[in-house]
Amino acid sequence: METVAVVGGGLAGSEAAWQLASHGIRVHLFEMRPATSTPAHVTGELAEIVCSNSLGSDESGTGAALLKEELRALGSLLLQIADSVRVPAGKALAVDRALFGKKATEIITTHPLIEVHREEMKELPASPAIVATGPLTSDAMASQVQEFTGKQNLHFYDASSPIVLGESISLEKVFRASRYNRGNDYLNCPLNRDEYIAFREALLGGELASVRDFDKINFFEGCLPVEELAVRGEDTMRFGPLKPVGLVDPLTGRQPYAVVQLRQDDLAGEHFNIVGFQSRLTWGEQKRIFSMIPGLEHAEYVSHGKVHRNTYINAPACLGQMFESLKRPALFIAGTLAGVEGYTECIASGLLSARCLIARIENRPFDPPPSTTAIGALSRYLQQADWKHFQPANFSFGLLDSLVKQIRAKDARRQALVERARSDFAAWMPNP
Ligand SMILES: Cc1cc2nc3c(=O)[nH]c(=O)nc-3n(C[C@H](O)[C@H](O)[C@H](O)COP(=O)(O)OP(=O)(O)OC[C@H]3O[C@@H](n4cnc5c(N)ncnc54)[C@H](O)[C@@H]3O)c2cc1C
Repeated sequence: METVAVVGGGLAGSEAAWQLASHGIRVHLFEMRPATSTPAHVTGELAEIVCSNSLGSDESGTGAALLKEELRALGSLLLQIADSVRVPAGKALAVDRALFGKKATEIITTHPLIEVHREEMKELPASPAIVATGPLTSDAMASQVQEFTGKQNLHFYDASSPIVLGESISLEKVFRASRYNRGNDYLNCPLNRDEYIAFREALLGGELASVRDFDKINFFEGCLPVEELAVRGEDTMRFGPLKPVGLVDPLTGRQPYAVVQLRQDDLAGEHFNIVGFQSRLTWGEQKRIFSMIPGLEHAEYVSHGKVHRNTYINAPACLGQMFESLKRPALFIAGTLAGVEGYTECIASGLLSARCLIARIENRPFDPPPSTTAIGALSRYLQQADWKHFQPANFSFGLLDSLVKQIRAKDARRQALVERARSDFAAWMPNP
């Protein structure tokens, strides 16, 4: 029986290992936690969710939902688990992160064809293999990957949001609502203009945690720290995480000047994350400055905003469309290390690379998914993006092939893209 090594038991690696095993292939899964951890992981569980507990929108007609739809159709293990431990979050698929990791670990470690080795791999394994060691790949493996790809590894820093204890929130100051009356899932902390201005000034004067290679910080635009947004202009935060639109404070009957949203982070409803509040302020400063937000005066922090390294290869220069390395086609690189961004995208890359490897092992041809589908467009992006300016990407409609007949109205255009994706996906689907 063919044996495959999977390095990294995160989102991409766990999905890949399970896909391989459920197609009858023996897997050695190497995960260095809990003995050696990363700056972001806090448990020894496989598929640990490190930051926001949201896997993005699940609202039909959005790009994020289209990718999930395809993953569900392809039998993704992690999407199945996510669906089974989801917590209320409006139209988003948010999960109880502890249960998510626990379930994934239980299913993977008890699979008869998967042997989990709790050790750090310091060298690239012999092929066939999938390497998915993530944004916080250990130093030894990062230098091996760098040597293998022959390209300078790029790196930048991004940041994660704080989580507060629900019982420490002053509930009389906040109101429950989702934007545009679409439910009641968020706790909203309203700020008037004076409170907003004072909060921004405090952020501008806040003490930052020292960061290695500080001068080289190159934040991912979709994940900017809140104090960085404050620097960009007086109203920038009001167009970002402090956006008040679609919310009415029942106390005043009006839309507040600014709103900080809190989203439930666990099934028990004990933890809430401060949406979009990635931060590189010191923990003490976060506590001091965020206590200026109405409702968070006495907030107790389950975790603080943090800053982390993100390691990824220059995919267009190193990978084929199924995440296989050009230099050694039976060695696949998946997850953020391959340059996808986002939990769901990491799961997608693990699933797709595994399906391609399964076909190779079974000596079957494997047609890449068409680039009119979400999963196909994402993998095509990695292969065909401009290698000189490569940046990791989430899936978005912008990655799909354009429509033959242009449609100007946004909603109608998206609807047409979704319908085409569904039909092309269904035509491709029997292949794997
Ligand atoms: C701090 C931070 C916050 C993030 N926040 C979000 C967010 O809110 N939403 C979102 O969609 N995405 C977020 N991301 C991006 C990304 O989606 C997640 O990091 C995701 O978990 C990446 O999946 P992965 O499988 O590539 O890597 P991971 O899930 O990190 O898995 C990699 C695994 O490999 C292990 N490992 C590393 N080196 C070795 C080695 N040499 N040998 C053996 N094991 C090894 C690690 O311990 C880890 O378990 C965040 C990333 C970071 C770093």
